[in-house]
Amino acid sequence: MKSHARVVVIGGGVVGVSTLYHLALKGWSDVVLLERSELTGGSTWHAAGLLPLFNMSYTVGQLHKYSVDLYKRLPAETGQDVSFHVTGNLRLATHRDRMDEYQKYCGTANTIGVPFQVIGPREVRELWPLAEIGDGAETPAIIGALYHPDDGHIAPADLTMALRKGARSRGAEIHEQTEVTAVKRTASGEWHLTTTKGDIVAEHVVCATGNYARQTGRLFGINVPSIPVEHQYIVYDESPELKAYRQNGGRELAVLRESDQSYYLREERMGWILGPYEAGAPARFADGVPDWFGKSLFEGDLERLLPHVEAAQRRVPSLATCGIKDIVNGPIAYTPDGSPLVGPAWGARNLWLNEGHSFGITAAGGSGWQLAEWIVEGEPGIDMMAVDPRRYGPYTSKRYVIQKNEETYRNVFVIHYPDEERADARPAKTSPVYDKLKRLGAVFGQRYGWERANWFAPPGVPAEDKWSFRRSNYFEHVGNEARHLRQHVGVIDLTPFTKHEVTGPGAEAWLDSLVANKVPTKIGRIALCHALTRRGGIRSEFTITKIADEHYYVVSAGAAERYDSDYLQQHLPASGVTLRNITMSRGCFVLAGPRARDVLAKLTDLPLDNAAFPWLTGQVAEVGLAVDVYLLRVNFVGALGWELHFPIEYAHHLFDALFEAGADHGIAMAGMRAMESLRLEKSYRMWGTDLSPDYTPYEAGLDRFVRLNKGAFIGKEALERQLAQGVPHRFVTFEVHDVTDADALGNEPLFAPDGTLVGRATAGYYGATLGKSLGLGYVKPAFAAVGTELHILILGEKKRATVLIDSPYDPDNKDLKA
Ligand SMILES: Cc1cc2nc3c(=O)[nH]c(=O)nc-3n(C[C@H](O)[C@H](O)[C@H](O)COP(=O)(O)OP(=O)(O)OC[C@H]3O[C@@H](n4cnc5c(N)ncnc54)[C@H](O)[C@@H]3O)c2cc1C
Repeated sequence: MKSHARVVVIGGGVVGVSTLYHLALKGWSDVVLLERSELTGGSTWHAAGLLPLFNMSYTVGQLHKYSVDLYKRLPAETGQDVSFHVTGNLRLATHRDRMDEYQKYCGTANTIGVPFQVIGPREVRELWPLAEIGDGAETPAIIGALYHPDDGHIAPADLTMALRKGARSRGAEIHEQTEVTAVKRTASGEWHLTTTKGDIVAEHVVCATGNYARQTGRLFGINVPSIPVEHQYIVYDESPELKAYRQNGGRELAVLRESDQSYYLREERMGWILGPYEAGAPARFADGVPDWFGKSLFEGDLERLLPHVEAAQRRVPSLATCGIKDIVNGPIAYTPDGSPLVGPAWGARNLWLNEGHSFGITAAGGSGWQLAEWIVEGEPGIDMMAVDPRRYGPYTSKRYVIQKNEETYRNVFVIHYPDEERADARPAKTSPVYDKLKRLGAVFGQRYGWERANWFAPPGVPAEDKWSFRRSNYFEHVGNEARHLRQHVGVIDLTPFTKHEVTGPGAEAWLDSLVANKVPTKIGRIALCHALTRRGGIRSEFTITKIADEHYYVVSAGAAERYDSDYLQQHLPASGVTLRNITMSRGCFVLAGPRARDVLAKLTDLPLDNAAFPWLTGQVAEVGLAVDVYLLRVNFVGALGWELHFPIEYAHHLFDALFEAGADHGIAMAGMRAMESLRLEKSYRMWGTDLSPDYTPYEAGLDRFVRLNKGAFIGKEALERQLAQGVPHRFVTFEVHDVTDADALGNEPLFAPDGTLVGRATAGYYGATLGKSLGLGYVKPAFAAVGTELHILILGEKKRATVLIDSPYDPDNKDLKA
């Protein structure tokens, strides 16, 4: 083994080998993979080899699509067959919500170019003659299905070997029986790895260790939120019916997924493989994989699988006549949201994760592709936030991960409602006023571990969601909250905001080098600033307030705490700037609405008129009994108002004081869903949905927040190039017409009236004060003019849409500046 390499990949499963292959493909041949046992010796060897293109996530969908395309070309490139059976993939639906889910998915599939068909029971019968359509009595009747003609199943070990050949032919080295046992940093900042076969120093390290992710993380001092869960499939003997069907010329049957019964079924050597996702599958190895486990499996637990076996037998009666040959029960890596961890680790330079894969055979190609791009080019080619390891924070305790992973596993096949909020491991991280909000009827959701009030059930209304792809039980109440805030005054608890304090003589120049806007120079000024990728895409959004000389207060999305904190930390200069993450020491209430000034005036002696306290300024104030409150005259709902950022110990006092002071004005809480409705009416772009690395500030219509004449900042050259070459997309706000019960929600395709795909929606909901169904999104520039007619596909129905002016509500910002 050589003593030095540019990259060392730890782990020789399909994911590690794919990462190695893609690094070599990008021209980095000085790359080495270390495997403690033999290639595929982890989970890869026993995987069922299914390659589902279906995924509700825009990012993961693109990774899966890349994989399927790659796996088709690999044999020709490497000379190694991978046994890719392109059988197609059939997902059955037995009720309307399931069809809604498929139709919602189709929007994403359209925008990323995955071929699919939505078919009826007759076509299901033609594609799958051995299945019962069902009469609705014992076997639920199939009402339709989603069919992917392009995917199927593959031999995971052969796939790994093909990737291995491709990597080695480009100079990559692979060492088996070589376990990494210790790690330290060299003085020059490289990684020094101790292995069972000697030492190696590397500039970059990629961890792709599957079930071992937590113990590998410990070597590097990080807590990786991936813990495996048991997953089983049953291998059946030959089926006489299947054999007869095939001998009569029937083609290999598509992989069948009866989502409503939570199982998949595919052919295997004239028999079947049946894979349920059952309740009760336990998490394993939370403290690490024991040495004895090696290439072993767990004992099969047929009892747990029986309800699914019986459901499958009802759907495919010939299954009942087949004997069971084997039960494969192996550990499958999971994360709390079920998506993998692909990207940089936090708090350590040049440490990368490709961990937590539960569909690793499917995702290996795509995740290797984008991770190699990230390492070699410095950033990925697509928006990877949905899989970025920094989407999790320090809250992922062992118990949290166990509970969430078991929940995610048993919910693999549940309907993925857009407003779904799963119950396990909650509440854990709460704002101090959580109980008060609960008493006011709050129905909570969870983001980044935080409990956030989504809406408030009025007295007599059950405080619970009925999840749906359509307008649901909370629709009316959310509308009332939004309208009340616009007409009177409302409070929103935004304590989860990410908050940093930047101080020191170098603070201004440093922040200025990170963002496209000019950082405020006058004390009390506030600026909306975007940190860009080198390609000019939007990576972060910061509201920056100059609190005092050499003192900035930097606020960003609550879900971006580790993502932003890590970025700021990594770019911190050696001296002159001090960065403090103060997320947990300050809370935030938004006080907004036409009566906001009257309410606040009762609690502070500061003059609040426009001359003394204009829009986009902030002051440090005493409010009620609270001291050191940052009063910022900004908000995300487009109303007269202030954000109160206060030392956390004043949360209860300020909450009570606001409600007392606002009683005469009918002060009321508003939740996250009302905020969504209000911000859409103002065309306010949301980080993480409307703003992402896929689009520049020019595409997002944020030109006024870019100062090309201010000196260097990350992404500036890319913006200049884009201006010279032409901006490829434009951000639009649009109204959807003739909506009865299903608004746009994001990821719907946008078409020109002639049917050409011209863009995609990134968000949508009902604008409660405008009384319009609204959407935000990106289109080709020719379709961005106000008044342009578009079509949008919502749950399979094409609806007419019209481009509106930016900020259809109060375009002149009169409310804000009142
Ligand atoms: C029963 C079952 C069926 C499945 N079916 C499918 C399917 O149909 N489709 C699908 O997409 N996915 C499926 N999966 C999931 C799939 O198996 C995994 O997602 C995938 O194999 C993960 O690959 P990996 O490379 O990340 O991990 P692994 O294959 O587990 O590889 C990790 C490697 O890292 C090595 N390693 C760990 N620590 C060290 C160290 N310190 N030094 C050196 N080496 C180290 C291990 O020895 C191991 O070989 C299934 C899983 C199970 C359990």
